[in-house]
Amino acid sequence: MVNIAEMPNGLISAAYVVAALLFIFSLSGLSKQETSETGNLYGMVGMAIALIATIADERVSNVFVIFVAMAIGSFIGLRLAKKVEMTGMPELVAILHSFVGLAAVLVGYNSYFEMDHSFQLNITDTQQMAINIHLVEVFLGVFIGAVTFTGSIVAFAKLRGVISSTALMLPHRHKLNLVAGIVSFVLMIHFVQSSGSGAPLYLMTLIAFVFGWHLVASIGGADMPVVVSMLNSYSGWAAAAAGFMLNNDLLIITGALVGSSGAILSYIMCKAMNRSFISVIAGGFGTDIVVNDDKDYGDHVEINAESVADLLRGAKSVIITPGYGMAVAQAQYPVYEMTQALKDKGIDVRFAIHPVAGRLPGHMNVLLAEAKVPYDIVLGMDEINADFPETDVVLVIGANDTVNPSAAEDPTSPIAGMPVLEVWNAKEVIVFKRSMNPGYAGVQNPLFFKDNTQMLFGDAKESVERIFKAL
Ligand code: NDP
Repeated sequence: MVNIAEMPNGLISAAYVVAALLFIFSLSGLSKQETSETGNLYGMVGMAIALIATIADERVSNVFVIFVAMAIGSFIGLRLAKKVEMTGMPELVAILHSFVGLAAVLVGYNSYFEMDHSFQLNITDTQQMAINIHLVEVFLGVFIGAVTFTGSIVAFAKLRGVISSTALMLPHRHKLNLVAGIVSFVLMIHFVQSSGSGAPLYLMTLIAFVFGWHLVASIGGADMPVVVSMLNSYSGWAAAAAGFMLNNDLLIITGALVGSSGAILSYIMCKAMNRSFISVIAGGFGTDIVVNDDKDYGDHVEINAESVADLLRGAKSVIITPGYGMAVAQAQYPVYEMTQALKDKGIDVRFAIHPVAGRLPGHMNVLLAEAKVPYDIVLGMDEINADFPETDVVLVIGANDTVNPSAAEDPTSPIAGMPVLEVWNAKEVIVFKRSMNPGYAGVQNPLFFKDNTQMLFGDAKESVERIFKAL
């Protein structure tokens, strides 16, 4: 048996390759619901191999300290993971990203302080080049880490509602961002030319902290889905930068995987919201449009659970569009039971999932999978949008922005242009919610006032349970 404390370098490299492959399999598994559990397993095994190989590296001198840190980290991580509600997940992810950012800053400073800063005369060009490359790694690692750190903290505060989710609109904000970028670049050149003098590094760190804070603060609430995945990407690049500084190939690979998959996810989210990535980064979405709250939308019609059950009994096809409210109410379990009851009556029931429904990518898919809803009746927006006109009843369970017709019909709406589930084309629409309050984007929803829409007020879980009983 190999004693891990004496694992030879070749074996460590081999372990890193295996772990890297497992991470790639993991990502590929996680991209489909059917294979997501196996994907998760690959990721866990890969991470276990990576940890063992890293601890066994001969450069790691104090294994005891690492085990203590891992024990404390595992304890906090397990407690948090058990306690967190699905709806609180984006906040948790945001704060975890901030840790990755902070870790990259600390690794950068550690790497900087460990360097030999004495002026060396007889140094070859190759040695000088190696020093310069390392200085650039330190500088970039600290920069990306610091931006990720404060940016993620602002995202956390916005998602938790500690600070307002509206976009901060400082005058000349784009110019301020540009100046921060240019000054940081000039400082990097000075840092390298001075063979690593402290002042440019310290100054850049301050600038990067403010830059990260401003970058996310100036992005409006409606763009938060993109911000969450964008910070995910940043945290990956921060980890890759730390990998360069620590000379750890696996950290570079893992960071690059997280960084690029986060970037791809951001692109998908942007497409789902009809937004260009650049305009999200530039911030201020929806702030130049005045929301006309006083507009008269007409009257809404209410319905009770028993009448909804009657309506469902007479339907041939039903589509359920879940949203954030289903997650808050934890209504997915009774929704599953109701679905089974309807299917037993020979009614065709399917689910329509908007890419940004809920509060994190894939939120609805995870909840429905948790309640054992079969994957084959859960369809994406593009797959099902054309079927609404042939549908008898649509149940909008706790969704709001993602079914708002003003996105398609009102060019002055703050969510104009965002593709939505066109539920209003169905014969009957039932909206489950507790009040007439708007959704996450703070925009009124004309769907509630349409002739074919009826409102079922109350907690979504209780409403669905009542319908199930009546069925
Ligand atoms: P919304 O957030 O637009 O609306 C949720 C609805 O649920 C509200 O109308 C609310 O109305 C209702 N609701 C809340 N609690 C309950 C309950 N217990 N029972 C019944 N109804 C309830 O939901 P969508 O999913 O349609 O849209 C998601 C929004 O979140 C989008 O704007 C998206 O951009 C944003 N977002 C998405 C992220 C992602 O990655 N998916 C990340 C961050 C933001 P009432 O209070 O009257 O009950």
